[in-house]
Amino acid sequence: MTERVNQHRFATRAVHAGQEPDAATGAINTPVFASSTFVMDEPGPGTRGYVYGRVGNPTRTAYEECVSALEGGTRSIAFASGLAAAASLLDTLEAGSHMIAMEDLYGGMHRLFRDIRAHSANLETSFIDLSAPGALEAAIRPETRIIWAETPTNPQLKLVDLAEIARIGKKHGILTVVDNTFASPALQRPLEYGIDVVLHSTTKYIAGHSDLIGGMLVIGDNPALAEKLGFTQYALGAVPSAFDCYLTLRSLKTLDLRMERHCANAGVLAEWLAAHPAIEQVSYPGLPTHPQHELAKRQMSGFGGIVTFRPRGGPPVAREICKRTHLFALAVSLGGVESLIELPGLMTHKSIPDEIRHRIGVTDDLVRLSIGVEHVEDLRMDLAQAIDGAG
Ligand SMILES: *Cc1c(COP(=O)(O)O)cnc(C)c1O
Repeated sequence: MTERVNQHRFATRAVHAGQEPDAATGAINTPVFASSTFVMDEPGPGTRGYVYGRVGNPTRTAYEECVSALEGGTRSIAFASGLAAAASLLDTLEAGSHMIAMEDLYGGMHRLFRDIRAHSANLETSFIDLSAPGALEAAIRPETRIIWAETPTNPQLKLVDLAEIARIGKKHGILTVVDNTFASPALQRPLEYGIDVVLHSTTKYIAGHSDLIGGMLVIGDNPALAEKLGFTQYALGAVPSAFDCYLTLRSLKTLDLRMERHCANAGVLAEWLAAHPAIEQVSYPGLPTHPQHELAKRQMSGFGGIVTFRPRGGPPVAREICKRTHLFALAVSLGGVESLIELPGLMTHKSIPDEIRHRIGVTDDLVRLSIGVEHVEDLRMDLAQAIDGAG
């Protein structure tokens, strides 16, 4: 069934890929295989494909295969969090390696690269603006092993040209990694542009209901790399539970539907905010005023559910807006069915050194919205009363 399913369109693969009705019972859903060990017919390697829960679990296999079918990968490797996926990937590097990373990056990646790997593995990271690819080749050194990008970035929603990054990576024999958390495979598939590894915090859009923490690495047609990264999954052991794999597999069935609504709602609210007299600046890749709107149209099939803006009046007004919304909950994270509001400078991106934070524009007046799937008019009215009350 799997091979047939993989020829279907995205929304169909999201419902079916990696999954067969249970052979023993006919259950239409892949069961939660809550088992740490698997019985063997005779001593030796597992004769039925499974040995021990860290090494493999059938619920996890179904979930991984479904994600591969959606990202266009040959192999997906599930982890207990997005950061565990990143840390496991970095563990394939020799100590003393150099990495080039987008400076506008998820705050936790800054923390992992700088506060942990810089001393535990002598990892040196050059943070540059990959949205201006001219700078990339100049930053490459003989010991550069990874080019690490996020697109759209968190929280500035800058874009990185995937084809260009992949081309430069291939030319210099450097692994390219793209954190595809913000777009999800429903809107953007970096492997199709020649990127080597896709990373997800599945906590966000893929799981989509703010009820679990998870991560994933997806590899294209590169069996040696898949083998190397797959080894880290059981050798390091940062694996998700069977139950979380089940929940995420269930969420994938509605990914396409949810992203459609996230994008539609975000598009309406971004335009409305851009026209609002109390708002100074709005960033959303779907707005024609976004400096990379043309690139967004080229490499994404929708513009995502994240909108950032700066109100007139600076940080005090931004703070006040966050306190006055009722539907938009004041909370970190993103990508769930419910709408959230936050101040990245004080919350999600606090771990980035101030000097970089200000250079990349994550100042204390920047408000980030994660637009949920509620009715857009209710969301608009909630923002309207919060902005009016704060001004
Ligand atoms: C949340 C997030 C991460 C980290 O993932 P966790 O699941 O929280 O460990 C990585 N990248 C991006 C873009 C994120 O939003």
